[in-house]
Amino acid sequence: MKIAAFDDGRVGVVLQSEVVDVTAVLPSGLDLMPTQRINWLIQHWSSLQASVEAAARSGQRLPLGGVRLMAANPCPPHVFAAPANYRKHIGELGDRVVTKKGRTAREQGFFLKAPGSVVGAGSVIGLPKGSSRRFDHESELAVIIGKGGRDIPRDRAMAHVFGYACLIDATMRIEKDVAEEERSMRKSFEGFTPLGPWIVTADEVPDPMALSNRLWVNGELRQEANTREMIVDIAELIELISSVLPIVPGDVIATGTPEGVGPFGPGDTLRIAIEAVGDMSVSVAERPSISPRAY
Ligand code: MN
Repeated sequence: MKIAAFDDGRVGVVLQSEVVDVTAVLPSGLDLMPTQRINWLIQHWSSLQASVEAAARSGQRLPLGGVRLMAANPCPPHVFAAPANYRKHIGELGDRVVTKKGRTAREQGFFLKAPGSVVGAGSVIGLPKGSSRRFDHESELAVIIGKGGRDIPRDRAMAHVFGYACLIDATMRIEKDVAEEERSMRKSFEGFTPLGPWIVTADEVPDPMALSNRLWVNGELRQEANTREMIVDIAELIELISSVLPIVPGDVIATGTPEGVGPFGPGDTLRIAIEAVGDMSVSVAERPSISPRAY
């Protein structure tokens, strides 16, 4: 099943080029916090799945083109991210990377992106106005956590996955000896975590470790890899993260980027496609106002 958040936090099931509004299946109390509906749906999936399926069969279909997609999960409790997780990516950024030579997510662990940087398909990645810094795209498979837990061993980890989405991990690079801000800050500007176009439930992705992962800038293919080239696989990432803190329903794990990371700027269009998951585009623009701090 493909589950989308759209308009002002409504929840829909995507069927080809249409979406069926299934929001009525969720408790009306959530009308007070519509962007939390996806988290609720995921947490209560075992009791809600049948009614969501029934609503998807009988509900009114809206053309996808007529709704505004939000992020696949508009308010993930956490956005965890793996650094340097595809063999060929390691080393390609030279001095512009904080990852020490030869160190992978297995040695480094994970970092966090601010959940407030998450946006949906068709959104805008906002660059600081007038910046001369380099901003890069990273094309990543996102894992959406279903069942929470602590200290989850890798052989049981995949049972904690609810589904998958496409994720672009936009990044402001460091300039060695000039500007070396913390990684979480450089990856958390407004709109820097496009997540979408929807969640594809895990039952529709029999082998998430064998999916093509591609990204284009203005129609030109820049990144092309397969998730089988990951160093630390999804199960081990869940083991790693849950060994530090409890993971909870709705959490997002950005599984890391392959080679081909490169710069983008205002006016560009980024398109990401993950096999069996989806395909989405976002645009890039300078923010309209100059921030009180320059970057
Ligand atoms: Mn990344």
